[in-house]
Amino acid sequence: MSLIVSSNTLAVSCYAKLNLTFSILGLLPDGYHEVDTLYQSINLEDQLRLTFDQNENTIKFDQANSKAPSGFPFDNKNIIVNSIKKYLQKIDATIGVTIAIEKDIPMAAGLAGGSTDAAGALLAMNTYFENRLSTQELLSLAIQIGADVPFCLQGGSMRGVGKGEILSLVPHQTEIHFLVAKPSDFSLSTPFVFKAYDEQDKSSHPKLDTDAACHALSSGNIKKMASHLGNDFESVVFAMYPPLKLVCDDMRDNDALAAHLTGSGPAVYGIFHDFISCEVALASLNAKFPDFSTWICSSAGRSVALMEQIE
Ligand code: ATP
Repeated sequence: MSLIVSSNTLAVSCYAKLNLTFSILGLLPDGYHEVDTLYQSINLEDQLRLTFDQNENTIKFDQANSKAPSGFPFDNKNIIVNSIKKYLQKIDATIGVTIAIEKDIPMAAGLAGGSTDAAGALLAMNTYFENRLSTQELLSLAIQIGADVPFCLQGGSMRGVGKGEILSLVPHQTEIHFLVAKPSDFSLSTPFVFKAYDEQDKSSHPKLDTDAACHALSSGNIKKMASHLGNDFESVVFAMYPPLKLVCDDMRDNDALAAHLTGSGPAVYGIFHDFISCEVALASLNAKFPDFSTWICSSAGRSVALMEQIE
């Protein structure tokens, strides 16, 4: 798709995230789970184009100029539509918005595909309306849309506690190399995985040390960071789809410093010393696990960004 930016059109690039650690600490008074997670943006990308029409007041998709996998909701159920409506409600404005999307982040994978699209839509809306909302106001709106949306507005490497929306920056200069893999025809909904987790016996869960992972990342020691990574959902999700564990084992056999589930899955990632090791592990995975889709990615310092020149 060719995305052209004009005064009535804004294009946004929206990156996926990994949860390098994911601990579930308990339940919050409002029934949400309390988590402790190290988020990392990666350069696996959706692109959105929003076209504004002041003489209109409907929010709709331009399906003819979109590219998305089957099952993508081109209707009011889409989190992008919800985000635009919430933004307009908040600033008490009406306008027509036509959305085109090029969707490359797999859906219901634990990669925050929907959340990053929502954050991208909020960024585009606030840009069109000349920053009518402050960063704080935008973040308050973001948490009403989803737990990962505040992180996706900011991106980079951040620790998230609470529902994941209480964020602190983990500053570092190191480029990290990842191999991401997802079963091509198996997806998971986050509420479904939380329910399965709640019903599970947790007595044997090893406790993750997100503090140590963040300190190691800040000091640029990726090997040490890798030794502290993990995800409390792993046992329940690996039991639902056993090849996921085999894929992680294969990444480790091919020199991954660590390999784990991201979020509620089913995407998994391996972390590698360099791009070449990623390529070697990729070749092994593609040969042994043809039912998985795979991506080589790098860490990114942001999640959503306006695209100045796209062709
Ligand atoms: P997270 O890691 O934040 O839990 P996820 O990667 O597991 O997210 P999403 O890709 O956000 O999950 O999709 C969850 C569900 O949301 C999908 O099954 C889909 O029906 C719905 N959805 C609504 N809008 C979108 C969107 N723009 N992109 C992807 N999914 C969307």
